[in-house]
Amino acid sequence: VSGTRADLLALTPQAVTALSNPGLVKRAQKELEAGKGPRLEEAPDGTVSGTFEDGAVARLPPGKPLRDCPCTCASTGVCRHRVAVALAYPAFAAASGGASSGASGAERAGAAPSAGPAVEEAPWSPGAVEDAALTGALSRRALERAGAMRARGYVARVRRGTFRGDDVPAALLATCTVRFLVPRALAHARCDCAAGTGCEHVALAVWAFREADRQGAPGDAAEVMVEVATAPAVGGSGGAAALGVAADVAGFLLLEGVQHAAGGAGARFALARAQVEGAGLAWVRGALEEAEELLAAYHARSARYAPARAAAALGEVLARTRVARAGGGAGEGALPVRTVLGADQAPETKLDHLRLVSLGVRLSAEGRERGAEVLLVDPAAAGLLVLRRAWTYGEGETPEAGEALGRRQGLPGVSLAALAAGQLVATGATRLPSRQVVFSTRGLQRVSVTPQTGAWEALPVPLRVEDVGALEAELRRRPPRFLRPRLLAEGVHVLAVSRVAGVEYAAGAQALRAEVEDAGGRPFGVELAHRGVAPGALDALAAALGGRPGAVRFVAGDVRRTGHGLVVEPVAVACEGGHVVSLDVAPVARAEGVRAVEDARPAPSPLAAALLEAEGCLADGVHQGLRHASPAWPQRLAGAATRCQDCGLGRVAEALGRVGGRLGQARASGSDTDEAALVEAWADAALRVAVAVEQLGGD
Ligand SMILES: [Zn+2]
Ligand SMILES: [Zn+2]
Repeated sequence: VSGTRADLLALTPQAVTALSNPGLVKRAQKELEAGKGPRLEEAPDGTVSGTFEDGAVARLPPGKPLRDCPCTCASTGVCRHRVAVALAYPAFAAASGGASSGASGAERAGAAPSAGPAVEEAPWSPGAVEDAALTGALSRRALERAGAMRARGYVARVRRGTFRGDDVPAALLATCTVRFLVPRALAHARCDCAAGTGCEHVALAVWAFREADRQGAPGDAAEVMVEVATAPAVGGSGGAAALGVAADVAGFLLLEGVQHAAGGAGARFALARAQVEGAGLAWVRGALEEAEELLAAYHARSARYAPARAAAALGEVLARTRVARAGGGAGEGALPVRTVLGADQAPETKLDHLRLVSLGVRLSAEGRERGAEVLLVDPAAAGLLVLRRAWTYGEGETPEAGEALGRRQGLPGVSLAALAAGQLVATGATRLPSRQVVFSTRGLQRVSVTPQTGAWEALPVPLRVEDVGALEAELRRRPPRFLRPRLLAEGVHVLAVSRVAGVEYAAGAQALRAEVEDAGGRPFGVELAHRGVAPGALDALAAALGGRPGAVRFVAGDVRRTGHGLVVEPVAVACEGGHVVSLDVAPVARAEGVRAVEDARPAPSPLAAALLEAEGCLADGVHQGLRHASPAWPQRLAGAATRCQDCGLGRVAEALGRVGGRLGQARASGSDTDEAALVEAWADAALRVAVAVEQLGGD
């Protein structure tokens, strides 16, 4: 018998690479081409064994992940023998006349068009895997962990695949991504966690696909978000209690005010944070932590403190806890409760073999501190990761900037600048819920950084954007910021550039502004303001944009909606010839030929100005404390309400008016109930204003 192993026939070199590594596959392919491949045999039970010239024998029994197949070479991981046997099998099966199965031929990823008459069937869905098959493929421990996770509930993004090329079905879980490389073969499901195969995530992924399949036909949408749960989102483990404590401490700070909340408030926050952390509510914890840090920054007289930031953090705590109490958001695009709370996030995730491409570094400065965030993208999992570095300069030292900071260490043995324009291969990294990636300095981790070619066209959508119109629609549809997952670099995209229509320097704003066109000729803006920590950035951007037509191929940066369309604040650009420029660490070099203009920035519209005033007034309430607000404050609030009313923002105006009414009642009675109602009214108004500002498009 031979050629019975459909799973091995469907295992393409790409899939084998994903299950091992590119080096092993290249080496095995070379040996096969040189005729030095193994001698294969297929046993009646389907076990394929390969005998090598060096005497090693690798055996691939059906249903076993490549990594767990036995080989006499005693290598613990996947070895070149197992890889070579997998790669040699299709030719062996064809030669012995067994590999005529049309199904496996058609399913071979990237198969040549000669694979026979194409019968368009819906591609196989991992949702078709039954629990009995999971029991056979996973260890009891893994299944138990998966079951516990399902009981608590989790959220996944399900990406259906066609098995053409790299387009395989994938489930994006909170902590890792599972890809099904071969139809019907669970052993060849690949996870990017430290285990790699046979882990609990495979079961979670199958259940997510099952839920997606239950909701709609596989052809319906390429990507859907599903929630899998057998228990309510905030059940046991003190979840509801923790939410109550979080809302209480936020309400306390709002009433007492940042100005008046002394040291004791810090302890209350720490306590609430510990409870929320214990209950596994990552995003509530993040918002609390931010409020706590801002309070500390105020007491330390740090420039990081701003009333608007404190108001945003408190509003976020109150919004997230509110959604949980209501049992979920309302309306189109509402997020599941556990997504709003971050209850689906593991505190940290060990990452297996990582291959990351850098999208540049962003520098920041605050007092005597300098910070760097390197944007790293995993082309296979489409996830952005952020590597952070920070330096504090002593009193006698001059804090560095730009190129000099770029010479600092990004990773052991690698400068920040090299990392920012390069690509890296690493093992032993850890990912936090915020998508920060941490490379431990201990243990067996290995990191190697090499230059990259700027081939960003290979990056996956939606990170890569060809059509800014589609991205803008996507941004408009998403839930408000204070309910979305708290992810670093959330707004970062890579935009294809087909033409630069114009570049100018706005002298007053000290900003470079360019109008460029996407792949389809639709315009969008590129804007970068001068910052002292990045003295060469503007000139580097001007040089890249002002070069000969078509020199810039991609711009990577933060994308935001504005009154005049999408605007990207670039971090790096990729030019023709594989040249990647990370702007913030670029050397200072005067770019020629950029037209300087007086600022033509229009004054904000009456609508935007009214919202700005409402936002500022509510933030001032947090600063003073609603209990201690000056007599002028309710007057300012009433003025803001009138301006909003005049601009047609009736519901925002009403919400602001209610804050004034509740304030009067609470002051008169001083009762807890009235103060709680005041906090509710403030939260309601703050959230309405935030939504209106976001809908208006930021600035
Ligand atoms: Zn071996
Ligand atoms: Zn896994």
